[in-house]
Amino acid sequence: MKPLGEYEVWLVTGSQEMYGDETLRQVAANSKRMAAELDSSPVLPVRVVHRPVVTSSESIATTCRDANASDSCVGVILWMHTFSPARMWIAGLQAIRKPLLHLHTQFNRDLPWAEIDMDFMNLHQSAHGDREFGYLATRMQVARKTVAGHWEDPQVVGRIATWARAACAWQEAQHLTIARFGDTMRHVADTEGDKVEAQIKLGVAVNGYGVSDLSDAIRAVPGAAIDDLVQRYEQEYDLAPELAEGGDRRGALLEAARIEAGLRGFLAAGRHGAFTDTFENLDGLRQLPGLAVQRLMADGFGFGAEGDWKTAALVRLVKVMATGLPGGTSFMEDYTYDLDPAAPKVLGAHMLEVCPSIARSRPRCEIHPLSIGSRSDPVRLVFDADTGPAVVAGMTDLGERFRIVANVVDIVDAGHELPRLPVARAVWQPRPDLRTAVEAWLIAGGAHHTVLSRAVGPEPLADFAEMAGIEFVLIDEETRVSAVQKELRWNAAYYHLVRGL
Ligand code: MN
Repeated sequence: MKPLGEYEVWLVTGSQEMYGDETLRQVAANSKRMAAELDSSPVLPVRVVHRPVVTSSESIATTCRDANASDSCVGVILWMHTFSPARMWIAGLQAIRKPLLHLHTQFNRDLPWAEIDMDFMNLHQSAHGDREFGYLATRMQVARKTVAGHWEDPQVVGRIATWARAACAWQEAQHLTIARFGDTMRHVADTEGDKVEAQIKLGVAVNGYGVSDLSDAIRAVPGAAIDDLVQRYEQEYDLAPELAEGGDRRGALLEAARIEAGLRGFLAAGRHGAFTDTFENLDGLRQLPGLAVQRLMADGFGFGAEGDWKTAALVRLVKVMATGLPGGTSFMEDYTYDLDPAAPKVLGAHMLEVCPSIARSRPRCEIHPLSIGSRSDPVRLVFDADTGPAVVAGMTDLGERFRIVANVVDIVDAGHELPRLPVARAVWQPRPDLRTAVEAWLIAGGAHHTVLSRAVGPEPLADFAEMAGIEFVLIDEETRVSAVQKELRWNAAYYHLVRGL
């Protein structure tokens, strides 16, 4: 089973009747082989399903409607093996609701220079057919990803796989519900947003609950469930002595397990894939959930602190994109800076809630006072993030549209022990450099909460934004602030126009 093997993308090949049966048989055989080889590629996380070659307006429209109706089809790959007059694609492209990838490839990689004749020229004619298709799709303003290159080239397969991962996240977004316990942290602006618009644009449903609903579920947790979880904590983490059996804070560990079991049960009962909480609304909860949130994130749940449902959604969606890939994904916050000019860095962390999927080594399970809020000391996992390239991304609600801002960063070794910092953390150097990245982030209105992923780069986020029709701003090694400033101005005009009256 592939990591996202319950999902499939369809390979739909365009041609036309004019070529006759023999050519069309060859087109079908070639596209079948292409689908089979892509399907067997371990890089592609989903199934690749071959669909019959389409040669008419009716067969194209039917295929597109079938794709819309299929629960397992998350996207459609389109390729014109031969010249395929594009007017017959109009009805299909008007109907299609699934993400599209326009694959501009050719079955034969090399030309048979000594044997090439006009039959070969007409059979392998995507250079013409895909230009014709691209023109029409552009004229109809059809959102799509375009990938050019030979279909056996690992780079091409990799980019198809990235798009397929984004398409799985898009499918997930259409079903994702987020449980929101309490409201936004008081007076905070960038974690706010329009939940109705989010459901229209992304599919994501954000549903509020009283914290007492959750605390009732937590109080109802049976003792056996607590014992079972504590046993797992002992296996998976190095427990601080005061939390170990017989330790004087053991009760706090049992309470943390009770919170985890209650939260898990609540989320499962409501089929929620993500959640938020806030330390300002903890009615009935004895600790701010720390360990529970960390472990739920490690199991794939999205999370946003302080009522931040936009980041909760993004964490869940990136976790779906990253399914089966090495490297973890976590909720994150740019917390503080090391501005040593030799190598300026960001210290990312949160009060408690960093996902252990990004840990460099076995986490320690500790208990410390929380310097804000009024509850008992919360139990949490403490660790350093694994080093290497990563992406941080945040979603902003600009009032009239959503914008995802992403920055490619390098997580580095802090070079120092942090003996008095009682939370999990990641230290990184933003690309191209801290000054440029942060200036670009600030003028783009990038949020203070983010998702950090070591498993994926920025490309599936860009693909996802294209599927959703929302804005995407990338900050990476090629970024210049002056160019971002212009891009933001152009985007403001574009999105205003495309939105209409
Ligand atoms: Mn925060």
